[in-house]
Amino acid sequence: MKISKHKVAAIHYTLTDNKGNVLDSSEGREPLYYLHGEGNLIPGMEEGLEGHEKGKKMKLKISPEKGYGVRDEKMIQKVPRSAFGGEKVEKGMQFQTGNGGVVTVTDVGLTDVTVDANHALAGVELNFDVEVIDVRDASTDEIAHGHVHGSGGHH
Ligand code: ZN
Repeated sequence: MKISKHKVAAIHYTLTDNKGNVLDSSEGREPLYYLHGEGNLIPGMEEGLEGHEKGKKMKLKISPEKGYGVRDEKMIQKVPRSAFGGEKVEKGMQFQTGNGGVVTVTDVGLTDVTVDANHALAGVELNFDVEVIDVRDASTDEIAHGHVHGSGGHH
């Protein structure tokens, strides 16, 4: 069975940057199950996996445009320290924003705090080692919900 729209695929993956640093990996965990064709994975990953079958191993090099996006300098902002309501703020801390996003503190000044709303992997070229562990049909519920149920799923 080939990976195509509305198939559920299970994959093992290791993600490295161009220097060979491992950024993420499913090694030692359950494989990642996902519903194909619903944008559950980054576009470059779904395009690379399309049409492949159980047992396939491959390397995918994915540009930021097909990964977590390019960095947008406009998403780096200074906010007054008072916006944090007296909470201790340090470089590297992450905060949830009102609209569900995440910002990372990149600098703390006397009166202002600089926060970056770019995804941590924005602008990064991604190198994936991927192995297709399984491919199956999705249930009607999974297709209706747009995500996987059961092993590795949402519920
Ligand atoms: Zn569901």
